[in-house]
Formats: sequence, C-alpha cells, structure tokens
Amino acid sequence: MIITISYFIASTLFLFGLKDLTHPNTARRGTSLAALGMLIAVFGTLLHHEIVDYKWIIAGLVIGTVIGIPMGLKIPMTKMPERIALSHSFGGLAIALVGVVEYYRHAGVMGKVQIGTIGFEVFLGAVTFTGSLMAFGKLQELLPGRPMTFPKQNIITVGSIVAAILLIFSLIVLPTSYSAFNLLLALSCVLGVLVVLPIGGADMPVVICLLNSYAGLAASASGFALNNMVLIICGALDGGSGFILALLMCKAMNRSFSNVLFGAFGSVAAAPREAATAEKATVRSGTPEEAAKIFKAAKSVIVVPGYGMAVAQAQHTVREMASILEKNGATVKYAIHPVAGRMPGHMNVLLAEADIPYDKLIDIDDINPEFPHTDISLVIGANDVVNPAAKTDTASPIYGMPILDVGSSKLVMVLKRSMNPGFAGIDNALFIGSNTMMIFGDAKQTLLKITAALAAA
Ligand code: NDP
Repeated sequence: MIITISYFIASTLFLFGLKDLTHPNTARRGTSLAALGMLIAVFGTLLHHEIVDYKWIIAGLVIGTVIGIPMGLKIPMTKMPERIALSHSFGGLAIALVGVVEYYRHAGVMGKVQIGTIGFEVFLGAVTFTGSLMAFGKLQELLPGRPMTFPKQNIITVGSIVAAILLIFSLIVLPTSYSAFNLLLALSCVLGVLVVLPIGGADMPVVICLLNSYAGLAASASGFALNNMVLIICGALDGGSGFILALLMCKAMNRSFSNVLFGAFGSVAAAPREAATAEKATVRSGTPEEAAKIFKAAKSVIVVPGYGMAVAQAQHTVREMASILEKNGATVKYAIHPVAGRMPGHMNVLLAEADIPYDKLIDIDDINPEFPHTDISLVIGANDVVNPAAKTDTASPIYGMPILDVGSSKLVMVLKRSMNPGFAGIDNALFIGSNTMMIFGDAKQTLLKITAALAAA
C-alpha cells in the first residue's frame, strides 16, 4: 500500500514537474518537483518485499553519491551535454543489465508479453548505451564531429534493425533461446554505434533527444517486465517527451526524421575544406577599440550568441555592453538559434542568468527578416548557426539547416579566437565576407575592451 501511494505521489510530481518545465519562469520549480518525485519513487521501491538484503543497495548508493555529488557540483555549464550523454549511456546500460538479469533468472517461466518487453528493453537499453557513448565521444571531440560513413552503411543499419526485431520475435516464440538473446544484446550494442557515428556534428542535438527518448522507452519496457508502475509511467513520460523534442528539433533544423532515426540515411557528402581556406587572405580584422567607435554610431544591434559565448562566460559582459548601447539610443535584440550552444535552450539559459529580459530574445523565424535593417550583427562565438553554406552549398553536411541571416545586415562583427571551424567541422564563408569584421580573441576579453572604450567615450 505504502509503495503504491509513493508511486502515485511520485508520478503526480513528475507530471507537474514536466508541466512547469514548459516555461522559463517555472522551470526551476519543475526540476525540484521532479527530483522530489524521484526521491519518493526510490524510497518506495526500497520498501519492496522482494528486497531481503540492503547490503549491495547501500554500497551502490554510497558509491553513486560519492561520484554523483562532486560531478554535479563541479561540472561547468559548457560540459553539461557531455555529462548528459554519459548519464544516458549509464542509464541505458543499467536498463539493459536489468533485462539481462531478469531473462537469465526467469526465461523458462516467462509469458510471451513479458519476454517481448524484455527483448524490447534490452534492445533499446543497449542501443542507448553505445549510442550515447558515441554521442559523448563526438561532443568531447574524442571522435570526429563530421558524419562518419562507410560503404553500404544504410543497408547494414536497416538490416541490423530488421534482424534485431526478428530476434525479439524468435524469443517470443522460443523464450529459452539463449543464443538468440545474446545475439540480440550484441547486435543492439553494435547498432547504437552504427546509428550515431554517421550523424554530422550539427545534427547531434536531434540524436541526443532521440537517445533520451530511447532510454525512456527502455525504462518503460523494463517497468512492464518488472511489473513496476512508476517505471512504466516515468519511462513513458521520458520517452514521449524526448520523442516530441526530437521531432520539434528536426522541424527546426529542417531535417527529415528518418535521416536521424536511421543514421544519416542518404546523407550528403562532407564538403571539402579547401574552398574557403584558400580565400582566407581576404579576412578583415579589427581591434576592440575600432569596434567601439563603430558601435557609437549604431542605432540597431542584434547580438548573435553561440557556443563560444558559453565557453568565454561572456553573458554578463554582453549585458553591460548592451546597457551602454541602449543608453546611447540603440536598440539591442538577441537572436536565438534553436541549436546554438550545446544543448536545447543553452543560450536562453545563459542570457537569463545575466538578467537579459526574455522578450528581447527573438527566435530565428522572427529575427531573420530584421537583419537587412540592422546596423550591426554582433556574432559572439557562434559559427555553425551563422554559416551560409547551409543555404548555398548542397554538398555541405549542414545544407538545409536554417541559419541566422547575419550576412544581410550592414555590418557583421564576429568575436572568436581564430578561423577554426565550429562543431560541424566546416569552414565558414561569413568570416571572409565583404561586410564582416573579425575581432580575434576570447569573447569576454574582447567585450570587456569594447565596453571600456564605449564607457570612456
Ligand atoms: P559552434 O560550435 O559552431 O562554434 C563555436 C565557436 O565559438 C567556435 O568556432 C570557436 O571558434 C568559438 N569560441 C570558442 N571558445 C571561444 C571563446 N572563449 N571566445 C570566443 N569564441 C570562442 O557553435 P554554434 O553555437 O554556432 O553552433 C552549435 C553547434 O553545436 C551546431 O553545430 C549544433 O548543431 C551543435 N550542437 C548543438 C547542440 C544543442 O542542443 N544546442 C547539442 C550538440 C551539438 P574559435 O575556436 O576560433 O574561438
């Protein structure tokens, strides 16, 4: 009874938490509610009558806490996506292992539904495990960010998915086919690698949402196998919301869902890097002091933040500079690309942290028509999200992705440290544009110098 009540309270808290997460003003409360729900669910589960010895559970709790708390406190914001990818990976591994244990303990006495859900659980859990490890490798730049394709990739990937489904069916027909189960486990691990490696850097956000969704669905399947209500509900919420987010991301990025689902099915070839490199001689660069003089005359400025702003932690300096520009009579807006940074809403979070009013953050569709009437677009550590190759180069891995049209404004100022490419690993012709001024250096340091020069004027 207590367990059922705790599961009911936990599930209700998850639902309210999820609802609160839909708005920035209530998001913090949503996270706390969901965390409280998880705590109650864990305590409820610990009361389960099948638990006869707490020794191993306490050992796991202590080890997890000792690793988890410092990791959570020390991890910088910019490394959050890597940490999330790793957490997904461990979550997938845990779910797959639960499935393996359940199978080896009860295979002989399982019903068809139970064996089917265990097959599904192990399949999705293992795909999430290795897929998220690959995503971690790409985010951490241990693996190349560009699409890694190989001959007959599409056939092999689709063939493996079909084979995994057939193996699940064969287990339903003959539950004690241990070799089929082991083959399913191994194939699912390989499949996680196969579907993530061919995804190009710029499409990683969608893959991460999808892996999140797989982990949720696997947890839900595990709930069916273990007859655990809270796992079913929590997994379905995670799976469903992750799936919806992946669909929304696909729409925002103008990507076909099947491309991402099957690992760059029919993906375009990576563009050769020499093209833009050869023209590097025409780069126009300036100093922060020169930039400040230009800013003094500006009447309209659009700030375009990207991952580099997060690395430099320049958001507070951006606000200080914007206040001076506004005092000088300029309007300042902020252009938000859906995949700028390294996690959904990354720029919104950073700018909110610097107390920049939410109504000044404008989404891509609404801000793009404003660039042609804008004096200065100030690109702060953004690269892929302003790369015109997405519109002009059909051979580019980011072709078709919507970008912020900064090139159409009167002047583009780009703050970055070098001519290095962004996450997708491709050159950016914006940086050699006739109306572009590059200001090289750490974004925060550059902004501090511009702000000081503006304040002194
Ligand atoms: P990019 O990764 O394309 O570019 C960031 C730029 O910031 C780099 O070119 C780098 O240039 C510059 N930079 C880094 N550190 C600093 C610094 N201290 N000061 C100044 N500049 C700096 O970022 P975008 O935001 O444009 O694009 C995001 C990319 O990440 C997209 O490809 C997106 O698909 C992908 N992605 C997004 C996720 C999401 O959910 N938002 C998740 C996973 C991937 P330099 O080294 O020369 O300084």
